[in-house]
Amino acid sequence: MLDYIAIQKELQSLEARNKESFPKFQLKAAKNYIRILPEFDEKGLFWFKILFHWQIFKYPVICNKAFEDECIICSEFDKLPVDKKKALWKLRAQGVYLMNIVDIKEAPNKVQVATFFSRIAMPVFSFASDKTLNLLDPDAGRSIVIDRTTKDVLVYPDTAGVVQIDKSLLKGLYKLDKLYTPLASETVPEVAEKLVQIFSSVTTPSDGATSKTQESIIADFMAKFPQKK
Ligand SMILES: [Zn+2]
Repeated sequence: MLDYIAIQKELQSLEARNKESFPKFQLKAAKNYIRILPEFDEKGLFWFKILFHWQIFKYPVICNKAFEDECIICSEFDKLPVDKKKALWKLRAQGVYLMNIVDIKEAPNKVQVATFFSRIAMPVFSFASDKTLNLLDPDAGRSIVIDRTTKDVLVYPDTAGVVQIDKSLLKGLYKLDKLYTPLASETVPEVAEKLVQIFSSVTTPSDGATSKTQESIIADFMAKFPQKK
């Protein structure tokens, strides 16, 4: 019999994923010329580091540690015995750096949000920390090139020189720390159910001593945060 509940769930998860209400920059398999835009608020940061768990569902799940809050997935993962942790290391949260950018060649009149893994974020931070480059200065800055034409992604400042950007773009910077919201407590039972499934899908010598149920995971979590019910 066709599982309409499964269809409905899948639809909801796809809808949740598509709820992102900002233009997300897609790296092309080419040389991407982008300008990183300056700080988006008075804290002076031009990025926000969001954390995702990728291997729980087919879509990434927000890790609430990004919002300096407790994360049910991290806290349950931390409680696992060492051998189980090793087997399930892919569950750990991974950081993604959100930055306001302009795609200089393809869409010079539009602010987009880039989502860079550390591999690209690291060279960006390295160039941004070099004051002589003025990388983020709207007048004196230059593009960075993310070259994806070769197997290894190359990131370097554009040697062609300074590119001024349209100042009106700076009024449209996205509040990067507000683009995603923490995982809601309504989602905890669903996540707990999936965690129990995943934890039991890998067998290790420490099994038996540590079988947890969905109820005990939810109870653990809610006991810590009763105010979130
Ligand atoms: Zn987490």
